[in-house]
Amino acid sequence: MKVDFHTHSKASDGEFAPKDLVQIALNNKVTHLALTDHDCVLGIKEAKDACVDKDITLIPGIEVSTTWRNTSIHIVGLFIDEDHEAMQELSKLQFNTRLERAIKIGEKLSKAGFENAYERTKAQAQENAIITRGNYARFLFSTGQFRSIDDAFYKYLRRGARAYVHSQWMDIKDAVEFIKRANGVAVLAHPKRYKITNTKLRELIAYFKSVGGEAMEVSSTQQRPCEREYLGELCLKNDLYASCGSDFHILESWREVGRNLDLDEKLKPIWTHPKALKYFA
Ligand code: AMP
Ligand code: MN
Ligand code: MN
Ligand code: MN
Repeated sequence: MKVDFHTHSKASDGEFAPKDLVQIALNNKVTHLALTDHDCVLGIKEAKDACVDKDITLIPGIEVSTTWRNTSIHIVGLFIDEDHEAMQELSKLQFNTRLERAIKIGEKLSKAGFENAYERTKAQAQENAIITRGNYARFLFSTGQFRSIDDAFYKYLRRGARAYVHSQWMDIKDAVEFIKRANGVAVLAHPKRYKITNTKLRELIAYFKSVGGEAMEVSSTQQRPCEREYLGELCLKNDLYASCGSDFHILESWREVGRNLDLDEKLKPIWTHPKALKYFA
């Protein structure tokens, strides 16, 4: 068994169509792949179809944008019924917030000299895709004016940069509720990637748990051992299920689908959650 519970496709800010993502996962011998696009479930059907008669199982997922104490926090929903009305409601809500913001970012970038930034960025994604700052960073890089995608992100899109547009996302509680209504499990994504102190992180986890959150990501592909250990401790202490994922978006040598995602034996892996069982039969 080789799992990856956090990946993106062209339905949001990933580089590959869902079926091509599945092929990449297969090449890496991944047996269970969750597609967790930002705020939408558009890519799930194609990914599922691509898994038929292959040695890989698709786990329907989503990564929901929320705001907690003025910080943007991501909640992954796993094992969701993607056709459930709760997911349709959620996507509609997020799509509109996202669209407004994406257009504003586009306007700022156009003023900065990147003409028709929104249209050109949109053209690189799937129809009706969610456009995030990740899409814009890739678009900017494609103009040839930046050293890397990261460089473009830093210069124009990071908080406080010239084309940054703030967005007030939903409360974590609402995201967890949507996920649970759709029969999914709510997972706190990449807890160490928020620029908050460890004290605040512990408060975040406590809040997440108090509103029904059931799991947190402990292992990610590119991570220092001490970080993984620390997250493992927090996971145990809060009696949460442990998840793991690459957060794959594009081909990079250091972030492959399914790579380096082991979970410590002490932890309760998310695939032992009752809602996960049918995917691991
Ligand atoms: P948003 O949800 O629109 O605020 O955009 C967040 C997305 O931007 C993340 O999911 C990443 O895909 C991408 N991102 C975040 N930080 C960076 C970075 N330093 N370089 C490139 N992309 C990034
Ligand atoms: Mn992203
Ligand atoms: Mn994220
Ligand atoms: Mn992600």
